[in-house]
Amino acid sequence: MAALTSAKGALLPSWARSSSSGHGGDLWRVLGKALATAGGGGGGGCSLLLPRRWQSSLPQLDHVADRSNEESGGEIDWDNLGFGLTPTDYMYVTRCSPEDRGDFPRGELCRYGNIELSPSSGVLNYAQGLFEGMKAYRRPDRAGYTLFRPEENARRMQRGAERMCMPAPSVEQFVHAVRQTVLANRRWVPPQGKGALYLRPLLVGSGPILGLAPAPEYTFLIYAAPVGNYFKEGLAPINLVVHDEFHRAMPGGTGGVKTIANYAPVLRAQMDAKSKGFTDVLYLDSVHKRYLEEVSSCNVFVVKGGVVATPDTRGTILPGITRKSVIELARDRGYKVEERLVSIDDLVAADEVFCTGTAVVVAPVSTVTYQGERYEFRTGPDTVSQELYTTLTSIQMGMAAEDSKGWTVAVE
Ligand SMILES: *Cc1c(COP(=O)(O)O)cnc(C)c1O
Repeated sequence: MAALTSAKGALLPSWARSSSSGHGGDLWRVLGKALATAGGGGGGGCSLLLPRRWQSSLPQLDHVADRSNEESGGEIDWDNLGFGLTPTDYMYVTRCSPEDRGDFPRGELCRYGNIELSPSSGVLNYAQGLFEGMKAYRRPDRAGYTLFRPEENARRMQRGAERMCMPAPSVEQFVHAVRQTVLANRRWVPPQGKGALYLRPLLVGSGPILGLAPAPEYTFLIYAAPVGNYFKEGLAPINLVVHDEFHRAMPGGTGGVKTIANYAPVLRAQMDAKSKGFTDVLYLDSVHKRYLEEVSSCNVFVVKGGVVATPDTRGTILPGITRKSVIELARDRGYKVEERLVSIDDLVAADEVFCTGTAVVVAPVSTVTYQGERYEFRTGPDTVSQELYTTLTSIQMGMAAEDSKGWTVAVE
């Protein structure tokens, strides 16, 4: 036990050790208690929950030095980040069992690493799972980081959990967990202008189940990775191809929630598109094969004569937080914004087309290919998409004189 006690300090980031630093102190007490109850167990298991018959085991804490106060992430080439996976130091984990009656207990920060799952877990067998995506930017003016509308991601996860028959963390718990994950991995937040720390919250059915039914246990986990631009084009305009054979969603399906089940099915079309030199696929509605829906991981807008239009979200389209924010910013800047059916004819006639999403931000589209025909759109300076990109990113990166919308949340 003495060895375990003396090891405690080394397992935790210094901000989590200091009892005077708000939640960090709580975390230290909780984790300390967890380590104490794990006493003699050997590896210092990262679990404050008592062992349960069917519980999946939590990752182990490595005995590593605290590096969370280091200035930057080691050997990273910040100028060539892209959207690859760079493993970081810590991930946040909590589990919800039947005894918890739908409330997730306070989670823990564990070393980033593999997790163990039952072969019969709900997520592995029946895709009972959701994800989220958010970014933390380094603040330009002073120390600390900024998150963009994190409570919107929390609420979207709650709506998705309802659809997928899962319990979800509260909004407060979700946002707190995201903050903890940012702070624990602070050395991985790219320097100003080089990118962001991408945060990936997951909510999955981790308990075992054989017959088709909701899993008996759920895991809420957040990991992080520093990222640059999503598309290999960087900030350059992208080239889309319309698919009228494959669809990503259908009425009554799950297109409107960020369930993991929506993404593997688009890989076939995406790979075909990439092999032909396109950046990504633009999907049409599966009923009429005539109305725009969205791209595999971002929403779509068309601009014609100063009017901005985007498909309305009626269950088959993911209600993007970037989409919602861009609609509001465009209206503030005097544009008429329509959420309606946007047909392939509207697209063909458009002056500009652009995509929105946390990962892509606002991406101008230079061409769309539909039934072998290639249509070109305006990109570059003096476009609506450029104006909206600048307006949005100055808020997200904390560069706007003031965030009059109250959209950013400071983490320090
Ligand atoms: C995540 C996602 C978006 C964008 O949502 P944001 O909240 O703006 O990041 C759009 N479409 C799909 C299919 C997505 O998965």
